[in-house]
Amino acid sequence: MDRAPASHVDAVVVGAGFAGLYAMHQLRSQGLSVRVFEAAPEVGGTWYFNRYPGARCDVESVDYCYSFSDELQRQWNWSEKYATQAEILDYMNWVADKLDLRSGITFNTRVLSAILDEQALRWTVTTDGGEVVSARFCIMATGALSAAITPDMPGLDSFAGEVHHTAHWPHEGVDFTGKRVAVIGTGSSGIQSIPIIAEQARQLYVFQRTPNYSVPAGNRALTAEELAEVKAGYAERRRVSFRSGGGSPYVGATTPTMQVSPEERRAAFEKRWQLGGVLFSKTFPDQMTDLTANEEAKKFWEEKIRAVIDDPRVAELLIPDDHPIGAKRICTDSNYFQTFNKPHVALISVRRTPIESIDATGINTTDAHFDVDAIVFATGFDALTGALGKIDIAGRVGERLRDDWADGPRTYLGLTDDGFPNLFMITGPGSPAVLANMVLGAEAHVDWIADCIRYLDENGYAAIEATPDAVDNWLAECAQRAETTLFTKANSWYLGANVPGKPRVFMLFCGGFGVYNDICAEVAASGFKGFELLPR
Ligand code: FAD
Ligand code: NAP
Repeated sequence: MDRAPASHVDAVVVGAGFAGLYAMHQLRSQGLSVRVFEAAPEVGGTWYFNRYPGARCDVESVDYCYSFSDELQRQWNWSEKYATQAEILDYMNWVADKLDLRSGITFNTRVLSAILDEQALRWTVTTDGGEVVSARFCIMATGALSAAITPDMPGLDSFAGEVHHTAHWPHEGVDFTGKRVAVIGTGSSGIQSIPIIAEQARQLYVFQRTPNYSVPAGNRALTAEELAEVKAGYAERRRVSFRSGGGSPYVGATTPTMQVSPEERRAAFEKRWQLGGVLFSKTFPDQMTDLTANEEAKKFWEEKIRAVIDDPRVAELLIPDDHPIGAKRICTDSNYFQTFNKPHVALISVRRTPIESIDATGINTTDAHFDVDAIVFATGFDALTGALGKIDIAGRVGERLRDDWADGPRTYLGLTDDGFPNLFMITGPGSPAVLANMVLGAEAHVDWIADCIRYLDENGYAAIEATPDAVDNWLAECAQRAETTLFTKANSWYLGANVPGKPRVFMLFCGGFGVYNDICAEVAASGFKGFELLPR
């Protein structure tokens, strides 16, 4: 039997990562009553769970942090170019304390359902603790990369050693000293953790399905002078970031790849290489739209990588040949490729020799048995839709969000869906989300939602709901923009290709963060075109 809500609030926020924390702060500052539910025992989201060795941000620390408060960005001092997981989590705890956010968060509590009361235009939110709350607004800050996947490998339960997933790493850490370790997966998490695990392990087997592009991070300590310079220029740095393609303050070349001389091209790639990390894919404006341009970036990358791998046969296995560079997220590493020069590190291509089963002592491929003491899954996430799909969300006439999304996520602006009035997603599918600095992405979304709520209240509306046409048009726009790029040419998690049975749909807005922010601002300025505003 349905239980009556025990309490009424203006807004429920699900999740206490970067997005949920800021949503709580912003809505509370606007005078709304807010409840936040968080499945974990602490704040942090991604940075609470992903504690694997080597975990760091791949957007520079000074950019991968809140911009909404000048006081916060001036007071915190990042110690490295790319902060460790521990430092980012410290930062988030510091923010939660400074803004007194903990008092409004119910930890260790998972939201199970959010059901629309169509008459009252309120959401009934139920938790696994048995609490039932009625809220006018429901804000899903559940994370684009928070539903980790462990592949269903036959015999895994029979393995006698330790099993870990990078996204659920034990808080006390794991000591691999003297152990034989298998790492399955060579995405960003695998590529960050493998060099460090290799430093401890007696023997390391890396099971690779798809070789990946990775660019050295060039991580280093930040000097006091550098920090002072960033702080002095923060306002401009943030302004440029919000206008940029990827939420960082760097602007790539404006001339297409093949219109500059080979020398200039090389110099531009080299400059980005020295900058380090994912921004390599934005060296030239046509790199992600033109195969010839992309090939040039690939050639440069290959030359750099072949130069650091001793055995050409290993290099052949590590160099991708099935997707354009950047069509999957470029990883950011510290000595990843060099790790395979170590005598106790072996690379196994599961494309050539698939994993058939796991038994008590290790992993069986079609070719051999690998005796190991520990298995690390670095196998990624059911991205963008996974966490939302775990919540029973029912909108008008009882329609389930997961049914509405059976053929792929349907949103308007990545923020809302028709049939789900006053339900918002932060960095949801259909927004730039993981294609841009996600802290700034979350801020932009929270600010838009907060402005929208203020508009509703000032104009006497009860609710806002996307029209079906607006959702259809937005989906078409996202698909059409994706078709003009190389993003659709890889089996990436952007397309759901890593989850068996997931519909193959490019789930992001790839027109750039600045362009997207302009579209959202224009929608709001027009009195929320594409939405129906429902009277009280
Ligand atoms: P999350 O941090 O994922 O928080 C969502 C929270 O919601 C979680 O705490 C979860 O427990 C909670 N939750 C979910 N469902 C429920 C439920 N039903 N009930 C209660 N609670 C629930 N992005 C970048 O831009 N730059 C980077 O350098 C970067 N590095 C990354 C490194 C790693 C290892 C990973 C996995 C991701 C990285 N990302 C990066 C993406 C990262 O996820 C975002 O930057 C950002 O941290 C997301 O914040 P969030 O609040 O939206 O979601
Ligand atoms: P991921 O990129 O999805 O990588 C998962 C890896 O596991 C891939 O190599 C995948 O191969 C492999 N895999 C999955 N299932 C497998 C199976 N059944 N058998 C063998 N291999 C299998 O996941 P991730 O590394 O956790 O990263 C996800 C995203 O999180 C990143 O793209 C990034 O946005 C973010 N992240 C960022 C950082 C950072 O540097 N700051 C670090 C970690 C994560 P296929 O490629 O063939 O699917």
